[in-house]
Formats: sequence, structure tokens, C-alpha cells
Amino acid sequence: MDVIYRYDPFAPIVPREIPDSESAIDRLLQGNQRFADMVHAIQQRTLGEGTGEPMVLPLCPVSLGLPLFQGAVLNQAPFALVLGCSDARVPTELVFDQWLNDLFVLRVAGNVLGTACLGSLHYAARHLGESLKVVVVLGHSKCGAVQAAVATYLSPRNFSDIAYTFALRTLIDQIQIAIRGSAHALRDVAGPSIAQVPDYESLLVTTAVYVNAAVSALELRRELDQRGFDQPVVTGVYEFETLSVQALPGVPGPITEVGTRLRPGPSNPDELSQYAKAVAEAALRARDSSPPSTGH
Ligand SMILES: [Zn+2]
Repeated sequence: MDVIYRYDPFAPIVPREIPDSESAIDRLLQGNQRFADMVHAIQQRTLGEGTGEPMVLPLCPVSLGLPLFQGAVLNQAPFALVLGCSDARVPTELVFDQWLNDLFVLRVAGNVLGTACLGSLHYAARHLGESLKVVVVLGHSKCGAVQAAVATYLSPRNFSDIAYTFALRTLIDQIQIAIRGSAHALRDVAGPSIAQVPDYESLLVTTAVYVNAAVSALELRRELDQRGFDQPVVTGVYEFETLSVQALPGVPGPITEVGTRLRPGPSNPDELSQYAKAVAEAALRARDSSPPSTGH
């Protein structure tokens, strides 16, 4: 299968038009769908399926965020700010199929907020506020930082082994609020015995990556409100199995259905608790509908 990038200098130039947050979210979701479709097409070919027709991707310097002429320098004008995890498997631009000058990205393990991260956010809110239409917190499934935080929650005795430096402990500590919230939500939905099931740790991680993104979104909301930046903060989780950004565990809804892929982050602790419950329910449903784990 050939994947061809094609630039036609005589094709009409289509400028990027993202007037509001809805079109910004749509652009991100369309991009994520393109990325998933591309990978699925490649995977089908691996199995000898699919047409094998070349895939032609038209390119234009303007839509790529590149200057048309040598020596020109573009102003910085991202349409979205994304707080994501450092995980090498989740490169922000690729997952959303976006290019240069599209995203202002903060990446830190566990997508938590630290001082330097907040400084970047304050800079962006003040200097890029005109072009930024949406703020996204992007978690991902099987996040190592969340797994470490869950492990310390379930086995506090191992805390110093897992979080073996002060800096690492600071990071893991920040995720604990999401782990506790997720544990509460799972207990509320399935009863106290849920903590005894063999796959409880995995359930807790699944739930906590979503809740952790929402916790960061709530913090971001508060920070941005103080700075008069009123564009929406939305959250989602990139799932390795589906390649999709989604708002709840399980099979993702269509990208046209508002809130199934990226949904508004909580604006207060009650909304956070409600969301945690919805995630716990979805995580339990997804686990009941998937084939039994082999333990690997
Ligand atoms: Zn991660």
C-alpha cells in the first residue's frame, strides 16, 4: 500500500478557518478519525485485506502551518492548547493529525499541572488568547504515571520503591485525588466488594485515567477563569485499542455526537464526582462485554 503526500502548487489555497470552539473541537476529532482510519487501513493490509489502492493525501504549505516562501516566518497562532502525557506512544499532533502552528502543547507525565506548566498556560492565555479556541486535557489508556499512582494507593508500603525521588513523588501525589475519586466511584456503582475482584487494579487504572484528565481540566478551568480566558476546557482519553480519543471507556460513539469523544471538563467538584461515576459505570460495562483477560 502506498501512502502519497501530494503538493500541487496550482491548487487553490485553503486558509485555516476556525472561528469558534465548536469548529476547533470538530477539527481535532476529524483529525483523530483520519489518524485512526489510516492506521486501520495499514493494519488491514498487514492481514492481506483491503484494496491496496494508494492513499493520496493532498498537502498545502498554508494548511500545514508552513510559510509559502523561503525566509518568511509565521506568527504563532495555535487554535488549541493541549495538556497531554509525555508517553512516547501518544504524540499529540499525530494523534489529532494536526500540523505546525496548530497546537500549543504541554506534555508532562500523567498530564498533571506543575508550576512550569502553569507558567506556559498563563503565557498562552495572555499572548495567544486570540487564536486559541479550546483547551484540551488529553489522558491516555494504560498511563504509566496513573498505574504508578494506583500501585501506591493499593500498596502504600511500596510507595518509596515506586516513587523513588522527591520529584517523582510530587507527580504521583498529584494523581492520588483522581485515584481516590475513582475508587469511590467504583464502590458507589458496584458496591464495596468491587475492591476484592482480581482485576480491580486494572479497573481502577481504566477509570482513573479519565478522572485524572478531568481533575486537570477542573484545575485549568479555575486558572483560566482567573485570567478572564473563557474558551471551553474539554477532556478526553486516547485509547490504544481503538486509536480514538473518547470521553468514556468502551466503544467510542460517533464523532458527530457531541460529548462522546471530547466533553466539557467539570467546572466544580460535584460535576467531577458525577463524571467519575459515569466513567466507573462505563469501565464496568466495557469490562463485562470484553473477552476474559489472559492475565498478560
Ligand atoms: Zn501517561
